[in-house]
Amino acid sequence: MIQKKICMLGAYGAGKTSLMRRFVESIFDERYHTTVGVKIDKKVFAVNGTDIMLMIWDLAGGDEIELTRLSHMRGAAGYIAVVDGCREWTLSRARVLQEWIAADFGDLPHVLALNKADLRDMWEVDTLQPLGCDPKNVFLTSAKTGDFVQELFERLAIQMLTKS
Ligand code: GDP
Repeated sequence: MIQKKICMLGAYGAGKTSLMRRFVESIFDERYHTTVGVKIDKKVFAVNGTDIMLMIWDLAGGDEIELTRLSHMRGAAGYIAVVDGCREWTLSRARVLQEWIAADFGDLPHVLALNKADLRDMWEVDTLQPLGCDPKNVFLTSAKTGDFVQELFERLAIQMLTKS
């Protein structure tokens, strides 16, 4: 079976752990768990008739995203940049991370999750502005309702399968 390592990246509280849990376990938890260190989970699913096992690394922790944390990106075939739609600055944070990764790891497949789409009334992120990502790789997700979570991971899987 094809196995790919991917990483969840983005600002503290953007919803990395929640999106991963929603995708892997179909669970959403309102409580706030501060993630320390790295969490790894896996899920097998079929994309275009091919079984793929995703090893998902949740690179969580505080907001002082040191470059050392990005060392966990080693061996990753792609990543998901997660933005909290309710906090504009988390988009700039995602852009910085994307630049760092491009500099260190080259042009890796990636998708952008504008998360907390169930709270659209409270959004600060303007989806009409350029998001620094091909629009077909941008998803308005909600880990709470599950909207576009499957599509997000699938799109990344398709990019990785096409590339290999
Ligand atoms: P992380 O630090 O990026 O891993 O963020 P978490 O997954 O821990 O989520 C931070 C907080 O936002 C938690 O209280 C979650 O319940 C909440 N959260 C995450 N995703 C969503 C979402 O799509 N909608 C809403 N309403 N809350 C969310």
